[in-house]
Amino acid sequence: MKEFWFVVGSQDLYGQEVLDTVAARAAEMADELSKKLPYRLVYKVTGEKSDQITKVIKEANYDDNCLGIVTWCHTFSPSKMWLTGLHLLQKPYCHLATQYNLEIPNEEIDMDFMNLNQAAHGDREHGFIGARLRLKRKVIAGYWKDDAVVERLAEWMKVCVGVDFSRNLKVMRFNDNMRDVAVTEGDKVEAQKKLGWEVNSWAVGDLVKEINAVTEEEVEELYNEYLSKYDVNTDNIDAIKYQAREEIAIKKMMDRNNCKAFTNTFQDLYGMEQLPGLAAQHLMAQGYGFGAEGDWKVSAMTAILKKMGENENGASAFMEDYTYHLVKGSEYSLGAHMLEVCPSVAADKPRIETHHLGIGMNAKDPARLVFEGKAGKGIVVSLIDMGGRMRMIVQDIEAVKPIMTMPNLPVARVMWRAMPDLTIGVECWITAGGAHHTVLSYDVTAEMMRDFANIMDIEYVHIDKNTTVQSLEDKLLVNDLVWKLR
Ligand code: MN
Repeated sequence: MKEFWFVVGSQDLYGQEVLDTVAARAAEMADELSKKLPYRLVYKVTGEKSDQITKVIKEANYDDNCLGIVTWCHTFSPSKMWLTGLHLLQKPYCHLATQYNLEIPNEEIDMDFMNLNQAAHGDREHGFIGARLRLKRKVIAGYWKDDAVVERLAEWMKVCVGVDFSRNLKVMRFNDNMRDVAVTEGDKVEAQKKLGWEVNSWAVGDLVKEINAVTEEEVEELYNEYLSKYDVNTDNIDAIKYQAREEIAIKKMMDRNNCKAFTNTFQDLYGMEQLPGLAAQHLMAQGYGFGAEGDWKVSAMTAILKKMGENENGASAFMEDYTYHLVKGSEYSLGAHMLEVCPSVAADKPRIETHHLGIGMNAKDPARLVFEGKAGKGIVVSLIDMGGRMRMIVQDIEAVKPIMTMPNLPVARVMWRAMPDLTIGVECWITAGGAHHTVLSYDVTAEMMRDFANIMDIEYVHIDKNTTVQSLEDKLLVNDLVWKLR
């Protein structure tokens, strides 16, 4: 069971009674918070000596189920006793600057009360050591029963789940990147160092062998699963079954090698009848990452954002900016892909269709899911390699019901309004070097991606409703200098 550890600061100056009270309250707070949080917060220790704190942090580092520590100082807790432990910390770290009591009790308050309830004092000392050690940390302040505080802690926990997933992620590539494309390239050693990803390639020929070895029974079972989930809008049942065959083969190879994300390229479908469309879409619906044209960065990020979303398989999808609607006052981006958009973002039940696909070496018309994306606020995320460092670019968007039906467009589509508006948003995106491939998410927030980038120690650039090209250029200039110094 994945969990988080609650480590509470105090000291022995106030006597055993105060320490007992702190411990009891901390345990109560962890239990109460756990009822509202997506993961358990486990009270571990009230630190009064450096040895205790160092010990619990060492244990946190080596416990695979501990995804992060949450600290708080009920009383004053001299921070030099935290120094050795925090210096060793390898797990995500959140400082919850809270207080057991909501109000200052007018009649009750005396010096004993003040000595016990001095988080305002203790959390400042605790904050200093985090700043002094230049620790990557999340600071959340507010009353621990406040819904907004709980929600922010919940989101931070989801980020940590993404971090843990990222640090164990293996990506399976079939062939290389699409020829001549720059933005999908990147330093795989740097990616493994910073993000944990093991990115390796497997032969398309081995996948074809696996495809041909799939049994009719296996195909029938998955075909029936498709029928239970999707409408069928084609007579070409063989094409659907071939996608099932591809899905089973890709999934077997990924599972055998503990991979949770994959890439392929339409430039190498040697021995395959169709580019995986429905197959890739249904794999994404199960939480696997996917990147087309060999884009392993977007494949890994798709899997991570899905993991960070609701119930660890959220509404996040591999996406590509395709075309614009530039009519004044009604300006939208249209996103889609050749085939592969995850049905987790569909507004309604997707339908399976088959159409000719001119790009690539498709011997037969590939089956794919066609649907409209749902309306709602979201983000698009791009990860690019700047040479020496990774840059994550996040843009706020508002998806809308597509303003036209586009009856001849044979793929799933999402339409959105980019922030701050379409043209400034595009100017910002291009200035920052954002890719055409993104992960579009409805349930992962920009703040969560900022926390993720912070924990992973990669550059973060956010384009929101207040961003201007000038402010962004200034930020990028400073970032370039900062990252050169590191
Ligand atoms: Mn593409």
